[in-house]
Amino acid sequence: MSGIMQGKRGLIMGVANNHSIAWGIAQALAGAGAELAFTYQGEALGKRVKPLAAELGSDFILPCDVEDLASVDAAMAQLKERWGKIDFIVHAIGFSDKNELKGLYADTTRDNFTRTMVISCFSFTEIAKRAADLMVDGGSMLTLTYGGSMRVIPNYNVMGVAKAALEASVRYLAGDYGPRGIRVNAISAGPVRTLAGAGISDARAILSWNQKNAPLRRTPTIEDIGGSALYLLSGMSNGVTGEIHYVDGGYNITSLPTLEVLRG
Ligand code: NAD
Repeated sequence: MSGIMQGKRGLIMGVANNHSIAWGIAQALAGAGAELAFTYQGEALGKRVKPLAAELGSDFILPCDVEDLASVDAAMAQLKERWGKIDFIVHAIGFSDKNELKGLYADTTRDNFTRTMVISCFSFTEIAKRAADLMVDGGSMLTLTYGGSMRVIPNYNVMGVAKAALEASVRYLAGDYGPRGIRVNAISAGPVRTLAGAGISDARAILSWNQKNAPLRRTPTIEDIGGSALYLLSGMSNGVTGEIHYVDGGYNITSLPTLEVLRG
């Protein structure tokens, strides 16, 4: 598959460290010949992102906190200045107060509901609008979601509601930008041990339940997710848009736990 992204340029948003899903995606894209720019949230993460970007041959790293729209605009302006146009964008950004990623969804506060929705859902729409203007020859956009959007997962709470709205946004944005040759898709990943993943109470138990009960009897690696992202961001998926693509070892198709688990 090497070379399918040759001559393509794009932005990766959401690398915090080398466990990040965005890092798995960046590695797959760079391995296929893509040229990458990265954003980072805050100087502390910037220090980690800089050497990672360098590993993939990129010196193009930009600060961007999606809560501050001016910083989104500044990052997009720098992309335009240096590259003129882009071919793809990866949005792997999510946040909610960890004190509300436990207990009852019904206890979500208005402040955290709003903040979670802005960072984890609406930022994708704000970024898509700006990125689309740089995709003058068409392009592909990708965000990351989780099955807690469709089904009740203990402790996922307000993030599940934000992911449901994010998935609906993917469909609406695909409708908006399809006529311009821009595709918009999401990967719904199974649980991965990352900084964001660790913020959810009982994350280890949920991960281990998925490993025992997914048809593939494992959760995805960031390399698995990178491979599927490469498909969705490359011409290999030119006929695909508005899709929520599960990379979860098949867990989403299951109803009951496996017989081994059921019988104890
Ligand atoms: P991660 O902690 O490595 O990445 C989350 C990223 O979000 C970080 O880089 C962080 O800087 C960024 N972020 C948070 N608030 C931000 C803000 N205000 N401005 C800019 N960036 C901000 O964790 P991850 O698991 O790789 O998360 C990436 C995406 O994948 C998230 O959308 C997450 O919900 C989703 N996802 C994760 C899992 C999982 O189990 N880890 C499963 C499915 C989907």
